[in-house]
Amino acid sequence: MVKGVFNSVASSYDVMNDAMSMGVHRLWKDDYVSSLKPGRKGPIRCIDLAGGTGDIALRILDHAREQYADRETTVDVVDINAEMLKEGYRRFKKTMYHNSLSFPSHTYAPSHESLAPQVSFIESNAQALPEETFPSNTYDLYTIAFGIRNCTSVPDVLKEAYRVLKPGGTFACLEFSQVNNPLLNMIYDQYSFSVIPIMGSILAGDRESYQYLVESIRKFPTQPNFAQMIQDAGFSTGRMHEGKGGAWRDLWGGIACIHTGVKL
Ligand code: SAM
Repeated sequence: MVKGVFNSVASSYDVMNDAMSMGVHRLWKDDYVSSLKPGRKGPIRCIDLAGGTGDIALRILDHAREQYADRETTVDVVDINAEMLKEGYRRFKKTMYHNSLSFPSHTYAPSHESLAPQVSFIESNAQALPEETFPSNTYDLYTIAFGIRNCTSVPDVLKEAYRVLKPGGTFACLEFSQVNNPLLNMIYDQYSFSVIPIMGSILAGDRESYQYLVESIRKFPTQPNFAQMIQDAGFSTGRMHEGKGGAWRDLWGGIACIHTGVKL
């Protein structure tokens, strides 16, 4: 079902993201990636799950290059949906990373566009990453942005994240979350349930998919419950509270939230 939803929204996904969030998703993603400081300690191997059209991968590579002159950090963009990956590939073709692309990689041949690709696009399920394509203890950074709530088993995603990360590697999730302020929550609910499906219908001709996306946000665990799940998967998190030194950091009063954990 999720595959179907994203098949149908792939071509309009980036436009709709901007329209629905009034561009705010860009600020959250910038904040998320810059807080992870990819490239600070030298080139790293990253995996971006539910990577869709490559928004996070692009930011990781830009950050590493702009802040640390690093052109060796790599990102494997992994998504269950080939249409989203194809949009991402088309988009990267227009960037300065066009000569360091690999698509389709692993699951498809050929992957010979670059001998040392900084970006690869791989179709796979976050809940069951094949060991031969994604060996254990491989990555320094695992990111998943606005994707984990679409996965049917969050514990399975976390288990796989733990497996593919190197010891000392970082898990970082950006996701819609729970708004704690009742007034903000009321305004946000009105906007989500009334405006977004209408926008989906007008701009993308697809009300149902956008209705599903709004509903999936409300079903996702609260910040402390999700932090507990990350700990249960074996990660070390900050203490069980929001903010500096905490297991999570709210963005815009909890409309979105960043959870992090380190593989022990
Ligand atoms: N991370 C991108 C971003 O922030 O723009 C895309 C987010 S989009 C809302 C959610 C993505 O999750 C879709 O591309 C969808 O195909 C992918 N997805 C859903 N379930 C998945 C799964 N089990 N494994 C991998 N990707 C999945």
